[in-house]
Amino acid sequence: MAADERWWQPMPAVSGPLRAGAAPTPDRYRWMVESVQEVIFEADPTGAWTYLNPAWERLLGHKVEDSLGRGFLEFVHSDDQQANLDVFLEVVATGKEKCRFSARYLKADGEILHMEIHAWIFRDADGHPLGSTGTLTDITDRVRGEEMLRHRAMHDSLTGLPNRSQLTEHLTAQLVRSRAEGTAVSVVFLDLDRFKMVNDSLGHDRGDEVLMTVAHRLQRTIGPDDLVARFGGDEFVVVLQEQDVRRVTALVQRLRSSVAAPLDVAGRRLALSFSAGIRTVNQGDATETSIEDLVVHLLRDADAAMYGAKEAGRDRVHSFDDDLRHAILGRLDTEADLRHASDRHELVLELQPQVRLDDGATYGYEALVRWEHPTRGRLLPSLFIDVAEETGLIVPVGRWIVEEACRMIAMQPASVLPRLSVNVSARQLGSGLVADVSEALREYGVDSGRLCIELTETALLADIDRARASLGALADLGVKISLDDFGTGYSSLGQLQRLPISELKVDRSFVGRIGTGPGRALVSAVIGMADALGIDTVAEGVERPHEALALTELGCRAAQGYLYGSPGPLCVQAALPAQRAEPQTRSPVDH
Ligand code: C2E
Ligand code: MG
Ligand code: MG
Repeated sequence: MAADERWWQPMPAVSGPLRAGAAPTPDRYRWMVESVQEVIFEADPTGAWTYLNPAWERLLGHKVEDSLGRGFLEFVHSDDQQANLDVFLEVVATGKEKCRFSARYLKADGEILHMEIHAWIFRDADGHPLGSTGTLTDITDRVRGEEMLRHRAMHDSLTGLPNRSQLTEHLTAQLVRSRAEGTAVSVVFLDLDRFKMVNDSLGHDRGDEVLMTVAHRLQRTIGPDDLVARFGGDEFVVVLQEQDVRRVTALVQRLRSSVAAPLDVAGRRLALSFSAGIRTVNQGDATETSIEDLVVHLLRDADAAMYGAKEAGRDRVHSFDDDLRHAILGRLDTEADLRHASDRHELVLELQPQVRLDDGATYGYEALVRWEHPTRGRLLPSLFIDVAEETGLIVPVGRWIVEEACRMIAMQPASVLPRLSVNVSARQLGSGLVADVSEALREYGVDSGRLCIELTETALLADIDRARASLGALADLGVKISLDDFGTGYSSLGQLQRLPISELKVDRSFVGRIGTGPGRALVSAVIGMADALGIDTVAEGVERPHEALALTELGCRAAQGYLYGSPGPLCVQAALPAQRAEPQTRSPVDH
């Protein structure tokens, strides 16, 4: 007889067909019990086995005759024994009739089986237990399946690191512990420096390879009680059970060295670095805040500190401090106020002339938004555009700006205001910009050729496919498109070629360096590249005559900057009712 057939009982002989309602014979009952897949057991009041069907040996590999008389707990994984004993004692004590629980059982070869146990208790007339009977069902496949699903839900599929959900869960548990036991928690927010450049130049597959290597390096550097999660893109978060600033900083330094080790990808040697923000929380910190909110605040604060590290030049670590706390609170105030700024007519567009370098004629203006804040005074865009972008407020604010610009164009003859350029943010591209522009053009009856949309390289590259679709639709409307701050991003010639761009604005940082050899070479290269693509160039931030001269020599045909006029204070206030108004008494040219 083959080993796996040893349990098999020959089927008892049956005379005549089985009929509904006719009870099986004792032979057939026995055959059923001995041939089912589940373990069927009987145990005495102490929990020792008194009967086990052959499935016991088949599933677990223990011989039935060696197992009888031994307590059921002997076969349960040591980590589950206490819980199983508690269930058993509770059932005996409370007079329950049946119970169901699960446990890990150990096979004879040491492997683990997950079992679900259903037990019924026999009692005498006084309720004293006489023993039990029941089944053990192998649920290993189900448990493993659930474990796999849970693993997938909790891990990042690329790097295998914990994902955001697990990070939140872990951080929540650490904070609960921190409050109860006085332990400390530190959150480190890491963002790889210039990862976008790696992705753009080497391709996404190579970028993924880099991320996997970084994940591995971070993982092997942290301690056994720490956690590193992939937060998204090239952002990672490390949670440490540590508050001593020096020790946290020391660990972050180890992370930096580990990530900085040379990495060969696609035949190139990469030197990676990251910027990091640290936020530490102590037991007494913000006890009035719910744990849920605290998780959000910690991540936000560490992210803000990381952002500070980026701003300070990348490849460095910043800790969250009081200054940052005030800055964040300030941003929250800005956000709250900005919600009402356009309704309260506090936004204003100022115009700055754009001139032709050969004859000095003004061929257009750029509209620059300002906020007349009721208590903080006049605010430049650097103080609120970021907040508007992060919160999505840029969409309604941007809509107002487009509409206002069209209204201004409609109020002036083309001889006075030939063209007006409006800055738009990446976020607007996917949020109805095309519809807003066409609606505003139609409402004010404006010739679309007099409107130009300025978009930065970074905004363009944030989602190139979406940008291409939106820019295509804008170009179809007849609107001009200008690429702002050119040279500060990483767009390649190939990427620009397929976009309907009519103008490149050479960033003012290049113009400022035009007096130096390398600076001049760079501007010359940009102008040459734009010429080759049939795109006009406008130099931004031209302040001094020698810059204008150098630009002319290099073949740049247009310029904008304080040398020709600052952004003008006179613009139509948002307070004026939107209307197809009569031309203003003062034109933008006057200021
Ligand atoms: P940008 O579009 O590159 O605008 C040019 C900035 O350079 C303006 O700063 C302008 O005042 C300043 N500028 C002009 N000439 C000179 C010069 O000769 N020297 C120097 N040093 N600076 C000069 P501003 O108005 O503070 O705007 C900053 C940025 O804010 C803009 O950069 C643009 O990216 C953004 N922004 C402005 N208005 C809007 C808007 O309506 N919507 C959106 N989304 N962004 C806007
Ligand atoms: Mg601009
Ligand atoms: Mg610019």
